[in-house]
Amino acid sequence: MRQTELIERVKAYDPNADEALLNKAYVYAMNAHGKQFRASGDPYFTHPLEVAAILTELKLDVPTIATALLHDTVEDTYVTIEDVKKNFGEEIAGLVDGVTKLSQLELFSESTKQAENFRKLMLAMSNDIRVLLVKLADRLHNMRTLSYIEKPDKRRRIAQETLDIYAPLAGRIGMQNMREELEDLAFAELDPEARNSILTRLNRLETSTGNRVGRIADEIKRKLAEHGIDAWVYGRAKRAYSIWRKLKDKQLNFEQLSDILGFRVIVKTPEDCYRALGVLHQSWRMIPDRFKDFISNPKTNGYRSIHTTVIGPEQQRVEVQIRTAEMHEVAERGVAAHWRYRERLEGETMDSALRWLRDMVELLERGDSVEEFLEHSRLNMYQDQVFCFTPKGDLISLPRGATPIDFAYMVHTDLGNQTVGAKVNGVHVPLHTPLRNGDQVEIIRQKGSTPSPLWEQIAVTGRARSEIRRFIKHAQHDEHVRFGRKILEKEFADAGQELTEKAMQAVAKKLRHSRPEDVYADVGRGALRSHDVLVSVFPELKKSKGRSAPKPGGAISIEGLTEGISYHLGQCCHPLPGDRIVGVRKPGEVVVIHTIDCEELEKADMEDWIDVSWGTSADELGPTLARVSVRVKNVPGALGAVMTVIGANGGNIFNVKVTNRNPLFFEFHVDIEVRDVAHLQNILGALRVNAVVESVDRVRGPGVAEGDSVT
Ligand code: MN
Repeated sequence: MRQTELIERVKAYDPNADEALLNKAYVYAMNAHGKQFRASGDPYFTHPLEVAAILTELKLDVPTIATALLHDTVEDTYVTIEDVKKNFGEEIAGLVDGVTKLSQLELFSESTKQAENFRKLMLAMSNDIRVLLVKLADRLHNMRTLSYIEKPDKRRRIAQETLDIYAPLAGRIGMQNMREELEDLAFAELDPEARNSILTRLNRLETSTGNRVGRIADEIKRKLAEHGIDAWVYGRAKRAYSIWRKLKDKQLNFEQLSDILGFRVIVKTPEDCYRALGVLHQSWRMIPDRFKDFISNPKTNGYRSIHTTVIGPEQQRVEVQIRTAEMHEVAERGVAAHWRYRERLEGETMDSALRWLRDMVELLERGDSVEEFLEHSRLNMYQDQVFCFTPKGDLISLPRGATPIDFAYMVHTDLGNQTVGAKVNGVHVPLHTPLRNGDQVEIIRQKGSTPSPLWEQIAVTGRARSEIRRFIKHAQHDEHVRFGRKILEKEFADAGQELTEKAMQAVAKKLRHSRPEDVYADVGRGALRSHDVLVSVFPELKKSKGRSAPKPGGAISIEGLTEGISYHLGQCCHPLPGDRIVGVRKPGEVVVIHTIDCEELEKADMEDWIDVSWGTSADELGPTLARVSVRVKNVPGALGAVMTVIGANGGNIFNVKVTNRNPLFFEFHVDIEVRDVAHLQNILGALRVNAVVESVDRVRGPGVAEGDSVT
């Protein structure tokens, strides 16, 4: 194929084609590929040129042909997408970019077994159908030259991928010819023996029956003419791959396969189609269940035809497809034909952009069933989905707007529950980042980590949301049980009694609970008073309510200190119940409690260290102060958003101090009253997933001076 030949081909169906543009794309691509060569030994440029030639057979517009010429320049040469934009404008650059992205996607397909999802991904990413058409033509030419590739396993992989992904894609957009050729080429590579055996048998059959196909076609034509119907009739044996598939699917042998012969009857009008059908059914016996009317009920991809199978003139079952010339072109060229007819009807010129969506709408207007509506809008429907890869290459399908949280729960509930971070395409991103098509997502998990209640707001899938809700409900229940048990233990201990399992079972029975655990949970969430539980076990204690004095030094919830010794919590490190702690006693001073990692400990003499731990009543100590450092984006409302998150998670803000402010972000310390470390962790987790928050850390340092606060 030469430059002039390509231009002539385009001119043949589009006399107003922009010749200069085609010439420019030709020269540009040829220079870019320079001295690159194909596996066949041909100059590389022969490939884009052949791809362009394939697309001229589909009579595609100039931007598509130019895109075909340029389609490998960005992927394989020094040319950038900006270069293409500068030289050929937005439209062509957009198309070339689309094809390049699909090519990059191919790198993943090797490891994915989910062909259906992969096809959807290709459709979702081809927001212009022309991108897909170029990609299919690219694959077709690569399949035609497959034999030049030396490595057998590489050939097989490409052939399998063609069979799994590209051939069905071609079929889905109605391009039956391309589908069949792709299948046949792949079949030849994957199972040459099966293919040869079918071809041999077809040959033998044809020889043994003389030119049976021709005779039957003539007979059909004659019968139709008798009834005044002018028709073009031709027949052919089915393709080897489709015969082979039928043999496999139906568990038949070759001799049992009846509909090896297929005939097409092309007439002028839809009315003629029905008349021709009547003639065929009158002349030969039809086979019930084989009749399909895709004219009154077009196929999902726009295909229209009448199919019927009759016992033909030579007592052989023959399948006949009846259609008009227009229906025929659509059947052969699929979506590519739709807009051409439309434009011819409206007198539009060929250089107006292809709007596949408009074609879909047109198909829709013609159709009448809901099912069809769904099928037709399918291309469009995938625009509402994103398809992302796991690090292993599995494809996960998600609704648009889905975040790494949704992704994690889609992979596995446990993974979702233990998520602490995410990498997209190798880069750390906040958990609220919306995912895009083709993203590779790696979830960072940590054993023992738990979901934040805030995730429910950033997840978009029902699955993630319900799992988060379920987890939190369980976690709350566990928390209530733990807490309720502690309260009861103290209540019983204060009364000089022991909290025994047996006693609790009795209480549970009395309250119609099945387990003591439920009693603890009731107490823990405040639905049942601990004293009432005590009294129900020891009724004589009823009067003594209120008599039991708090423990000596009631406020002391630190174990390891001699009774009566006073202490306070370090202002340097703000220990929280749950932290590992050490007491420091200096002569003449109160004991100061520090966290184990507090710098102040290093300054103190080890001699002065006292081994302490939180007492059981620490939970009832009341709120304790924790300090966190938050860095937020410098956007309106950021500070308020942070305060809302803290409040919503039960934290009481005690003080706020801005420590750093610049045009990009500002940082501040917040002192929050929390119950314990777990409560603090919960707040930190909720802050981390907020959109405005860049970082959150717990701070240990000197206390916030009074009057330092900012409101
Ligand atoms: Mn290519």
